[in-house]
Order: sequence, then structure tokens, then C-alpha cells
Amino acid sequence: MVFDNAMFILSVDVDVGSKKLAVLNNGKHDKDVGSHFGEFLIGEVEERVLPKFVDIINCFEIAVTFAIRGQLLEVDSSIIDLLLDSPVSHDIGAHGYYHRAFTEISQKEAEGELREIHLRMSGHGIFPKSFVFPRNRVAHLDLLKRYGYKCYRGPGGFLRDNINIERCEALYNICPSMYISLGLNPFLLRRIVDLCITKKSPLHFWLHLWNFGQDKEHIERNTNKILVPILRYAKKKERSGMLTFETMLSAAKKAEESQIHEGYL
Ligand SMILES: [Zn+2]
Repeated sequence: MVFDNAMFILSVDVDVGSKKLAVLNNGKHDKDVGSHFGEFLIGEVEERVLPKFVDIINCFEIAVTFAIRGQLLEVDSSIIDLLLDSPVSHDIGAHGYYHRAFTEISQKEAEGELREIHLRMSGHGIFPKSFVFPRNRVAHLDLLKRYGYKCYRGPGGFLRDNINIERCEALYNICPSMYISLGLNPFLLRRIVDLCITKKSPLHFWLHLWNFGQDKEHIERNTNKILVPILRYAKKKERSGMLTFETMLSAAKKAEESQIHEGYL
């Protein structure tokens, strides 16, 4: 696909969102969330630090995609309320209902999850169009289309990371370019932004907040060390007209416009 400019896309996975959800599940979905940490710890960290993180993002006046686990709305809507009240209009996407890998559930179970997400989120006036597959395992794309999704994030990893958007079964895969983790060198990140500017490519960073530390102080320090400098750098490039900030959804819309313009649709 041909774009007028590079795009800087950021998506944030909310795997649990509240420790109340862990209490409700009583360890049942710990293994679905991760092999190192259970739902309680992740829920507690996300609940505690997400407001600060949204503040930081809002200071840059950029919209990002927050992929929310649907089941969170059974117990707590504070994260959704925070995003809905935000002065910057963020893309609120879905991250499964129970955070189960879609490759490991049947068509019927996947449909059940999408139906539940729709019921819970529509109650808050949200009709998600961006889907982040739990554990990045892609399956049941036909159902996603049927439930009104426009884009998803496919699998990442060193050999699969990409600076591209692909069309697949009438949906757009906003390919992940790089997972933002603590070990990354800010200089390397700036060079990747430069590369995407030269190629006029989409650049999709994604992250888990809990990967930045387990308490507010560490997360704040690490966010300031890694994420803030790259946002500041990209913001400077945006002001020079070299890139635009996009959510997964707005990037998918640009991809569609590009395909229409090129005569593919
Ligand atoms: Zn996840």
C-alpha cells in the first residue's frame, strides 16, 4: 500500500484491568493471561497505573488504541470511563472476553466471546472496531468481520515484525512493528522512526503497561526513560509534516482510502 506519509501507531493491551476481575475468576484465567504473572498482579498494576499513563499520552495530544478485555466490564468500568472522559478521543478496541487464545477455542466459543464483548461494551456506547488477539494468536477472522471489526493486530515477534498494513478477509492487519520493552535503546527507536519516514510506512508499537514495572514509581520512571523520548521525537517529526499519529482504526481507514485510490477496492 502507498501512503502519503509515515504513520506512528501505538496500541496498549489491557489484559485484566482490575484486581476485582482476578478475585471473580479465582485463578481460572491466570494461565490465559501469561506464564509469569497471574491475573491478580496484572489487574492490580493496570488498575493503578493506567490513569497516569493516559495522562502522559494525553499531554502529547495523540490518540492511541487501548485494547480492553471485555470481561473487565463485569466488575469495573473505571478504565472505560476514564477513556470516555479523556479530552483526547482514543480508539477503544477489544482484547477478547476472557483473554483466551482464539486459536484454542472453537468457532462457537469465539462467537460467544464476541457477543459478550458487544453486549458489555455497547452498554457504554462503545462499538469496538479494532481487535487485538489475546496472546497474538489470530483465528476466526470471519467472525470478526461479522461483528463489525475493521482491523486487528496480527502476530509479532522478531521474525514477523513488520512496517506494513495487510488486507486479510476484508479486515486490515495493522502489523505490529515492535514490542516496547525495557531493554530497548531509545537511539534505536529513533532510527526506526527515521526509517519509516523515509519509506512512508506505518510504524506500529505496542506494549503492556505491566512490562514497565510493578509499581507506579517504576512504571513512571521507565515510561519516562523509553516511551516519552520516542513520543517527543515523533511529535517533532509530526510538526515537520513527516508523519501522522494514528490509532489502529484510523490507520485502517487510511489503508482503505489508499486501496480505493489505487483502484484495488
Ligand atoms: Zn493480552
